[in-house]
Amino acid sequence: MCDINDNPLKLSVKWNGKEYEIPEFSPSDSVAMLKIAIENATGVRPERQKLLNVKFQGKVATDNFTLSELNLKPNLKIMMMGSLEEAIEEARTKPEVDEVVNDLDIEEEEVDVENQEIYLAKINKRVRDYKITMLNEPRPGKKLLVLDIDYTLFDHRSVAETGYELMRPFLHEFLTSAYEDYDIVIWSATGMKWIEEKMRLLGVSTHQDYKIMFYLDYLAMITVHTAKYGTIDVKPLGVIWGKFPQYSSKNTIMFDDIRRNFIMNPRSGLKIRPFRQAHLNRDRDQELLHLSTYLRDIAHHCQDFDTLNHKKWEKYKPEKKSQQAGSKRKAEDSTPSTPKE
Ligand code: MG
Repeated sequence: MCDINDNPLKLSVKWNGKEYEIPEFSPSDSVAMLKIAIENATGVRPERQKLLNVKFQGKVATDNFTLSELNLKPNLKIMMMGSLEEAIEEARTKPEVDEVVNDLDIEEEEVDVENQEIYLAKINKRVRDYKITMLNEPRPGKKLLVLDIDYTLFDHRSVAETGYELMRPFLHEFLTSAYEDYDIVIWSATGMKWIEEKMRLLGVSTHQDYKIMFYLDYLAMITVHTAKYGTIDVKPLGVIWGKFPQYSSKNTIMFDDIRRNFIMNPRSGLKIRPFRQAHLNRDRDQELLHLSTYLRDIAHHCQDFDTLNHKKWEKYKPEKKSQQAGSKRKAEDSTPSTPKE
Protein backbone atom coordinates (compact mmCIF):
# COMPACT_ATOMS: atom_id res chain seq x y z
CA MET A 1 0.00 0.00 0.00
CA CYS A 2 1.03 3.53 -0.56
CA ASP A 3 2.27 5.49 2.37
CA ILE A 4 0.70 8.93 2.47
CA ASN A 5 3.06 10.18 5.17
CA ASP A 6 5.97 10.42 2.83
CA ASN A 7 9.04 12.41 3.76
CA PRO A 8 10.32 14.68 1.01
CA LEU A 9 13.45 13.60 -0.86
CA LYS A 10 16.23 16.09 -1.36
CA LEU A 11 18.11 15.39 -4.58
CA SER A 12 20.56 17.16 -6.83
CA VAL A 13 21.83 16.47 -10.33
CA LYS A 14 25.35 16.48 -11.68
CA TRP A 15 25.74 17.22 -15.37
CA ASN A 16 28.60 18.51 -17.53
CA GLY A 17 30.76 18.95 -14.45
CA LYS A 18 28.25 21.16 -12.62
CA GLU A 19 25.82 20.45 -9.85
CA TYR A 20 22.20 21.61 -10.00
CA GLU A 21 19.69 21.86 -7.18
CA ILE A 22 16.21 20.48 -7.89
CA PRO A 23 13.02 20.91 -5.84
CA GLU A 24 12.14 18.41 -3.13
CA PHE A 25 10.23 15.35 -4.19
CA SER A 26 7.71 13.11 -2.56
CA PRO A 27 8.56 9.38 -2.75
CA SER A 28 5.25 8.84 -4.54
CA ASP A 29 6.31 11.10 -7.42
CA SER A 30 7.49 9.42 -10.59
CA VAL A 31 10.75 9.34 -12.50
CA ALA A 32 8.91 11.29 -15.24
CA MET A 33 8.35 14.18 -12.81
CA LEU A 34 11.96 14.01 -11.68
CA LYS A 35 13.05 14.36 -15.30
CA ILE A 36 10.89 17.44 -15.76
CA ALA A 37 12.53 19.01 -12.72
CA ILE A 38 15.93 18.17 -14.18
CA GLU A 39 14.89 19.76 -17.48
CA ASN A 40 13.94 22.90 -15.59
CA ALA A 41 17.33 22.98 -13.91
CA THR A 42 19.52 22.04 -16.88
CA GLY A 43 17.50 22.59 -20.07
CA VAL A 44 18.09 18.99 -21.17
CA ARG A 45 14.85 17.44 -22.36
CA PRO A 46 13.53 14.41 -20.48
CA GLU A 47 13.86 12.14 -23.51
CA ARG A 48 17.55 13.08 -23.75
CA GLN A 49 18.35 12.40 -20.13
CA LYS A 50 20.20 9.31 -19.00
CA LEU A 51 20.09 9.11 -15.22
CA LEU A 52 22.96 6.76 -14.60
CA ASN A 53 22.43 6.00 -10.93
CA VAL A 54 18.61 6.03 -10.85
CA LYS A 55 18.12 2.30 -11.16
CA PHE A 56 15.69 -0.49 -10.52
CA GLN A 57 17.20 -3.97 -10.09
CA GLY A 58 20.40 -2.89 -11.76
CA LYS A 59 18.79 -1.35 -14.85
CA VAL A 60 18.11 2.33 -15.58
CA ALA A 61 14.63 3.03 -14.22
CA THR A 62 11.87 3.85 -16.71
CA ASP A 63 9.62 6.91 -16.32
CA ASN A 64 6.72 5.14 -14.66
CA PHE A 65 8.57 4.09 -11.52
CA THR A 66 7.90 6.06 -8.37
CA LEU A 67 10.91 7.25 -6.42
CA SER A 68 9.95 5.10 -3.45
CA GLU A 69 10.14 1.98 -5.61
CA LEU A 70 13.76 2.83 -6.38
CA ASN A 71 14.88 3.28 -2.76
CA LEU A 72 16.85 6.41 -3.57
CA LYS A 73 19.30 7.50 -0.91
CA PRO A 74 18.61 10.83 0.77
CA ASN A 75 20.71 13.67 -0.72
CA LEU A 76 21.50 11.52 -3.76
CA LYS A 77 23.58 13.25 -6.41
CA ILE A 78 22.07 12.06 -9.68
CA MET A 79 24.60 11.54 -12.44
CA MET A 80 23.13 12.63 -15.73
CA MET A 81 24.18 12.32 -19.33
CA GLY A 82 22.40 14.20 -22.08
CA SER A 83 23.07 16.90 -24.57
CA LEU A 84 21.44 20.19 -25.49
CA GLU A 85 23.25 20.57 -28.82
CA GLU A 86 22.22 17.13 -29.92
CA ALA A 87 18.59 17.94 -29.33
CA ILE A 88 18.78 21.21 -31.20
CA GLU A 89 20.62 19.63 -34.12
CA GLU A 90 18.14 16.81 -34.35
CA ALA A 91 15.18 19.17 -34.31
CA ARG A 92 16.75 21.04 -37.23
CA THR A 93 17.36 18.04 -39.41
CA LYS A 94 14.64 15.55 -38.59
CA PRO A 95 10.95 16.23 -39.21
CA GLU A 96 8.63 14.96 -36.51
CA VAL A 97 5.95 13.49 -38.73
CA ASP A 98 6.18 10.07 -37.19
CA GLU A 99 6.25 11.14 -33.58
CA VAL A 100 3.92 8.89 -31.68
CA VAL A 101 1.95 10.35 -28.84
CA ASN A 102 1.16 7.87 -26.17
CA ASP A 103 -2.27 9.27 -25.44
CA LEU A 104 -4.60 7.05 -23.55
CA ASP A 105 -8.30 7.36 -24.00
CA ILE A 106 -9.03 6.97 -20.34
CA GLU A 107 -12.53 6.82 -18.96
CA GLU A 108 -13.64 7.75 -15.50
CA GLU A 109 -14.08 4.21 -14.23
CA GLU A 110 -10.52 3.31 -15.09
CA VAL A 111 -9.14 5.31 -12.19
CA ASP A 112 -8.66 2.79 -9.42
CA VAL A 113 -11.49 3.36 -7.03
CA GLU A 114 -9.55 2.00 -4.05
CA ASN A 115 -7.00 4.72 -4.56
CA GLN A 116 -9.41 7.60 -4.60
CA GLU A 117 -8.72 8.45 -0.97
CA ILE A 118 -5.00 8.57 -1.60
CA TYR A 119 -5.54 10.90 -4.54
CA LEU A 120 -7.86 13.11 -2.55
CA ALA A 121 -5.18 13.30 0.14
CA LYS A 122 -2.63 14.29 -2.51
CA ILE A 123 -4.98 16.91 -3.92
CA ASN A 124 -5.59 18.30 -0.44
CA LYS A 125 -1.86 18.48 0.06
CA ARG A 126 -1.51 20.55 -3.11
CA VAL A 127 -4.41 22.76 -2.04
CA ARG A 128 -2.61 23.34 1.24
CA ASP A 129 1.03 23.57 0.15
CA TYR A 130 1.12 24.72 -3.47
CA LYS A 131 1.67 28.48 -3.56
CA ILE A 132 -0.22 30.33 -6.26
CA THR A 133 1.07 33.70 -7.41
CA MET A 134 -2.02 35.68 -8.38
CA LEU A 135 -1.53 37.73 -11.53
CA ASN A 136 -5.12 38.96 -11.62
CA GLU A 137 -8.00 38.47 -9.21
CA PRO A 138 -11.03 36.29 -9.97
CA ARG A 139 -14.01 38.25 -11.28
CA PRO A 140 -17.46 37.66 -9.79
CA GLY A 141 -19.76 35.47 -11.87
CA LYS A 142 -17.10 34.29 -14.31
CA LYS A 143 -16.60 30.69 -15.28
CA LEU A 144 -13.17 29.03 -15.31
CA LEU A 145 -11.06 28.01 -18.31
CA VAL A 146 -7.86 26.00 -17.65
CA LEU A 147 -5.42 25.72 -20.56
CA ASP A 148 -2.45 23.52 -21.29
CA ILE A 149 0.41 25.15 -23.24
CA ASP A 150 2.46 22.67 -25.26
CA TYR A 151 0.65 21.55 -28.42
CA THR A 152 -2.51 23.26 -27.15
CA LEU A 153 -1.49 26.92 -27.56
CA PHE A 154 2.03 26.49 -28.83
CA ASP A 155 4.17 24.06 -30.82
CA HIS A 156 7.15 23.73 -28.51
CA ARG A 157 9.23 21.46 -30.68
CA SER A 158 9.11 23.19 -34.02
CA VAL A 159 12.15 25.01 -35.22
CA ALA A 160 11.10 28.62 -35.41
CA GLU A 161 12.74 31.86 -34.54
CA THR A 162 9.91 33.81 -33.00
CA GLY A 163 6.98 33.25 -30.69
CA TYR A 164 4.64 34.22 -33.50
CA GLU A 165 5.78 31.30 -35.64
CA LEU A 166 5.20 28.80 -32.83
CA MET A 167 1.90 30.24 -31.69
CA ARG A 168 -1.30 28.48 -32.57
CA PRO A 169 -3.34 30.58 -35.00
CA PHE A 170 -6.04 32.79 -33.44
CA LEU A 171 -4.49 32.48 -29.96
CA HIS A 172 -5.03 36.10 -28.94
CA GLU A 173 -8.48 36.26 -30.54
CA PHE A 174 -9.37 33.10 -28.66
CA LEU A 175 -8.15 34.39 -25.29
CA THR A 176 -9.79 37.78 -25.82
CA SER A 177 -13.12 36.14 -26.57
CA ALA A 178 -12.87 33.60 -23.73
CA TYR A 179 -11.99 36.32 -21.23
CA GLU A 180 -15.44 37.85 -21.61
CA ASP A 181 -17.01 34.86 -19.86
CA TYR A 182 -14.12 33.04 -18.17
CA ASP A 183 -11.29 33.63 -15.76
CA ILE A 184 -8.27 32.01 -17.41
CA VAL A 185 -5.63 29.76 -15.83
CA ILE A 186 -2.60 28.28 -17.61
CA TRP A 187 -1.44 24.85 -16.42
CA SER A 188 1.64 23.25 -17.93
CA ALA A 189 3.63 20.16 -16.93
CA THR A 190 6.86 22.14 -16.91
CA GLY A 191 8.44 24.52 -14.43
CA MET A 192 7.26 28.02 -13.60
CA LYS A 193 10.23 29.71 -15.25
CA TRP A 194 9.44 28.02 -18.55
CA ILE A 195 5.77 28.91 -18.32
CA GLU A 196 6.57 32.56 -17.65
CA GLU A 197 9.07 32.59 -20.49
CA LYS A 198 6.65 31.03 -22.96
CA MET A 199 3.84 33.37 -22.02
CA ARG A 200 6.16 36.33 -22.52
CA LEU A 201 7.35 34.94 -25.84
CA LEU A 202 3.78 34.56 -27.08
CA GLY A 203 2.75 38.01 -25.87
CA VAL A 204 0.10 36.50 -23.58
CA SER A 205 1.40 37.97 -20.32
CA THR A 206 1.26 41.55 -21.60
CA HIS A 207 -1.84 41.51 -23.78
CA GLN A 208 -4.21 44.47 -23.36
CA ASP A 209 -7.50 42.71 -24.14
CA TYR A 210 -7.39 39.85 -21.65
CA LYS A 211 -5.67 38.91 -18.38
CA ILE A 212 -4.50 35.54 -17.08
CA MET A 213 -5.54 34.85 -13.49
CA PHE A 214 -2.52 32.66 -12.62
CA TYR A 215 -0.16 29.94 -13.81
CA LEU A 216 0.19 26.40 -12.41
CA ASP A 217 3.26 24.25 -13.06
CA TYR A 218 4.15 20.56 -12.70
CA LEU A 219 4.41 20.87 -8.91
CA ALA A 220 0.62 21.26 -8.74
CA MET A 221 0.19 17.89 -10.51
CA ILE A 222 -0.21 14.52 -8.78
CA THR A 223 0.93 11.02 -9.63
CA VAL A 224 -1.80 8.39 -9.93
CA HIS A 225 -1.71 4.65 -10.57
CA THR A 226 -4.12 3.04 -12.97
CA ALA A 227 -4.49 -0.70 -13.23
CA LYS A 228 -4.47 -0.53 -16.99
CA TYR A 229 -1.80 2.08 -17.73
CA GLY A 230 0.51 2.20 -14.74
CA THR A 231 1.75 5.41 -13.16
CA ILE A 232 0.94 8.75 -14.74
CA ASP A 233 1.17 12.40 -13.71
CA VAL A 234 -2.07 14.33 -14.03
CA LYS A 235 -3.66 17.76 -13.53
CA PRO A 236 -6.49 17.48 -10.99
CA LEU A 237 -8.85 20.45 -11.11
CA GLY A 238 -9.54 19.78 -7.42
CA VAL A 239 -6.36 21.73 -6.66
CA ILE A 240 -7.99 24.88 -8.06
CA TRP A 241 -11.48 24.10 -6.77
CA GLY A 242 -10.07 23.57 -3.27
CA LYS A 243 -8.45 26.99 -3.30
CA PHE A 244 -11.27 28.85 -5.07
CA PRO A 245 -14.67 27.48 -4.03
CA GLN A 246 -16.53 29.64 -6.54
CA TYR A 247 -15.32 27.27 -9.27
CA SER A 248 -16.48 23.68 -9.59
CA SER A 249 -17.25 21.10 -12.25
CA LYS A 250 -20.43 23.07 -12.97
CA ASN A 251 -18.56 26.08 -14.37
CA THR A 252 -15.06 24.81 -15.26
CA ILE A 253 -13.65 23.54 -18.53
CA MET A 254 -10.08 22.43 -19.22
CA PHE A 255 -8.30 22.04 -22.57
CA ASP A 256 -5.41 19.66 -23.06
CA ASP A 257 -4.06 17.72 -26.01
CA ILE A 258 -3.45 14.73 -23.72
CA ARG A 259 -6.61 13.20 -22.33
CA ARG A 260 -4.90 11.44 -19.44
CA ASN A 261 -4.06 14.83 -17.92
CA PHE A 262 -7.68 15.20 -16.87
CA ILE A 263 -8.23 11.65 -15.69
CA MET A 264 -9.26 12.94 -12.24
CA ASN A 265 -12.06 15.00 -13.80
CA PRO A 266 -12.74 13.54 -17.23
CA ARG A 267 -16.08 15.27 -17.72
CA SER A 268 -14.50 18.71 -17.31
CA GLY A 269 -11.80 18.11 -19.91
CA LEU A 270 -11.85 18.77 -23.62
CA LYS A 271 -9.17 17.05 -25.64
CA ILE A 272 -7.98 19.59 -28.16
CA ARG A 273 -6.36 18.48 -31.42
CA PRO A 274 -2.61 18.91 -30.92
CA PHE A 275 -0.98 21.75 -32.80
CA ARG A 276 2.22 20.41 -34.30
CA GLN A 277 4.57 21.39 -37.05
CA ALA A 278 3.67 25.02 -36.76
CA HIS A 279 5.53 25.92 -39.93
CA LEU A 280 3.28 23.64 -42.01
CA ASN A 281 -0.01 24.21 -40.25
CA ARG A 282 -0.14 27.95 -39.72
CA ASP A 283 -2.71 28.50 -42.44
CA ARG A 284 -4.80 25.42 -41.78
CA ASP A 285 -5.38 25.24 -38.06
CA GLN A 286 -8.68 26.81 -37.00
CA GLU A 287 -9.20 24.86 -33.80
CA LEU A 288 -9.05 27.88 -31.48
CA LEU A 289 -11.45 29.83 -33.66
CA HIS A 290 -14.08 27.09 -33.45
CA LEU A 291 -13.46 26.54 -29.75
CA SER A 292 -14.08 30.26 -29.08
CA THR A 293 -17.59 29.77 -30.37
CA TYR A 294 -18.10 26.67 -28.25
CA LEU A 295 -16.89 28.42 -25.09
CA ARG A 296 -19.19 31.35 -25.72
CA ASP A 297 -22.16 29.12 -26.49
CA ILE A 298 -21.84 27.00 -23.36
CA ALA A 299 -21.16 30.04 -21.17
CA HIS A 300 -24.36 31.69 -22.39
CA HIS A 301 -26.64 28.67 -22.71
CA CYS A 302 -25.52 26.04 -20.19
CA GLN A 303 -26.05 26.49 -16.46
CA ASP A 304 -24.26 23.27 -15.49
CA PHE A 305 -21.20 22.06 -17.40
CA ASP A 306 -21.61 18.61 -15.82
CA THR A 307 -24.42 18.07 -18.31
CA LEU A 308 -22.12 18.59 -21.31
CA ASN A 309 -20.20 16.00 -23.27
CA HIS A 310 -17.08 17.80 -24.48
CA LYS A 311 -16.17 14.87 -26.72
CA LYS A 312 -18.99 16.08 -28.94
CA TRP A 313 -18.18 19.76 -28.73
CA GLU A 314 -18.29 20.24 -32.47
CA LYS A 315 -21.90 19.10 -32.57
CA TYR A 316 -23.07 21.30 -29.70
CA LYS A 317 -26.16 23.31 -30.57
CA PRO A 318 -27.26 25.88 -28.02
CA GLU A 319 -30.98 26.05 -27.40
CA LYS A 320 -32.02 28.93 -29.55
CA LYS A 321 -33.41 31.83 -27.58
CA SER A 322 -34.15 33.37 -30.93
CA GLN A 323 -36.82 30.71 -31.56
CA GLN A 324 -39.22 32.64 -29.37
CA ALA A 325 -38.28 35.93 -30.95
CA GLY A 326 -38.71 34.29 -34.35
CA SER A 327 -42.22 33.01 -33.73
CA LYS A 328 -43.21 36.37 -32.25
CA ARG A 329 -42.02 38.12 -35.35
CA LYS A 330 -43.93 35.67 -37.51
CA ALA A 331 -47.12 36.46 -35.62
CA GLU A 332 -46.59 40.17 -36.06
CA ASP A 333 -45.87 39.77 -39.76
CA SER A 334 -48.97 37.72 -40.51
CA THR A 335 -51.73 39.83 -41.97
CA PRO A 336 -54.70 40.19 -39.66
CA SER A 337 -57.65 38.16 -40.84
CA THR A 338 -60.56 40.12 -42.13
CA PRO A 339 -63.17 40.56 -39.48
CA LYS A 340 -66.26 38.53 -40.00
CA GLU A 341 -69.35 40.31 -40.90
MG1 MG B 1 0.17 19.57 -24.12
